[in-house]
Amino acid sequence: MTNKTPFALCIHGGAGVITPENLSPTDKKMIKEDLILALNAGEEILAKGGNAVDAVTAAVVALENSIHFNAGKGAVYSREGKHLLEASIMDGATLEAGSVANSMKIKNPVLFAKSLLGYKDLIMISGEAADNLAEQTNHELVENHYFDTDFRKKQFLEAKKISETATFLDHTNLKMGTVGAVAIDRNGSIAAATSTGGMTNKLDGRIGDSAIIGAGTYANNKTCGVSCTGVGEYFIRATVSSMVSNLMEFGKMSLDQATEVTIKGHLTKLGGEGGLIAIDKDGNINFSYNSQGMYRGFVCEKKKEKKVYIWDNEEV
Ligand code: ASP
Repeated sequence: MTNKTPFALCIHGGAGVITPENLSPTDKKMIKEDLILALNAGEEILAKGGNAVDAVTAAVVALENSIHFNAGKGAVYSREGKHLLEASIMDGATLEAGSVANSMKIKNPVLFAKSLLGYKDLIMISGEAADNLAEQTNHELVENHYFDTDFRKKQFLEAKKISETATFLDHTNLKMGTVGAVAIDRNGSIAAATSTGGMTNKLDGRIGDSAIIGAGTYANNKTCGVSCTGVGEYFIRATVSSMVSNLMEFGKMSLDQATEVTIKGHLTKLGGEGGLIAIDKDGNINFSYNSQGMYRGFVCEKKKEKKVYIWDNEEV
């Protein structure tokens, strides 16, 4: 294989109100370790010449399996006390996409979303139909309580104390924790994937940006790949991930310009909070957010670097 492009991978574990005061040193250490595990999982594939779709999937599976993030095990609780999971993935080479929303049983929603790539008559599927299709296609299913964690239970009870219907909008300490990954492989192919439990105490049935191609996830080899995290309603209205790509393709902007206009301009003006990770077709990496922090990291073959961050430019 010719090494046209050095590979790069970036990941996030959510954006929101993350301050040095509300993150204990032990939590910080464990979160860092799990971010590195996810980077390693994706890097192993890319370093062997594997493709970007497989790499982002492996990184997101690792984050879904960690209890520290709001995706897979450790997902937040809905208003009725369930875990309702979402994931999406896009292949920038083919523009194929797969997405699942409101699954109660799929252990790794990103694996199921990936299995939808290539379907001509299906991109998004939700609820019981998604769980049934996952069962028929031999995906690992678990009981809903598999996703339980004490931390999310506590958050859920805190929300209920504010009011029966309280969400992030009522209490900014309901930290987020959606996960995502973007990669470019040595063939110059880009992919992006996102996975979440949504927002704490969300209305059952609500679908956020993480399941929506063009809002929470987008990839196009002509431009870039993007995975988002934040208050989903705003990311849907601002079509954040596809906007970055469109500003690059049709507005001739660089990745840095396009993400700045999208996050600091468009999203912020709408009142939305959160951020994104992105990689462009030349392997440039961008992290943009308007929240206090964002769990994130990258590995870059060209610079031979692997780093993890929470706050501005301060390596963890
Ligand atoms: N974007 C996710 C949602 O609205 C939440 C998050 O990023 O933490 O469902």
